[in-house]
Amino acid sequence: MKTLFEKIIDREIPAEILYEDDLCLAFRDIHAQAPTHILLIPKKPIPKLADAQITDQLLLGHLLMTVNKITQELNIADAFRLVINNGAGAGQTVFHLHMHILAGRPFSWPPG
Ligand code: 5GP
Repeated sequence: MKTLFEKIIDREIPAEILYEDDLCLAFRDIHAQAPTHILLIPKKPIPKLADAQITDQLLLGHLLMTVNKITQELNIADAFRLVINNGAGAGQTVFHLHMHILAGRPFSWPPG
């Protein structure tokens, strides 16, 4: 059974895709929590960060460097927030690892 995000990777569900390479895909969140709200996902269906294995370390590094590429291209590299919700108790609703890239408004700390 495919996750929602696997269906987006496979173009079975439409999304506003901003970036794609062999390993990952970035698209706009359908319920944006900031003027810019992008989801970056690995194509490999890792359910959550805690499920990642040591063999995934290059992939995880690639995701972070892709955040830099995307934020530079969108001119938001000087101020963005990167969020990974890990597990239902932390607010994760889609069990396919994803990073939220948020920008375009002030962000408070601690996060809610
Ligand atoms: P989570 O709560 O798991 O950290 O984040 C899941 C995110 O996926 C949410 O911010 C939610 O708005 C987004 N989302 C859920 N369904 C869709 C969809 O069909 N398309 C897109 N683009 N985003 C979605």
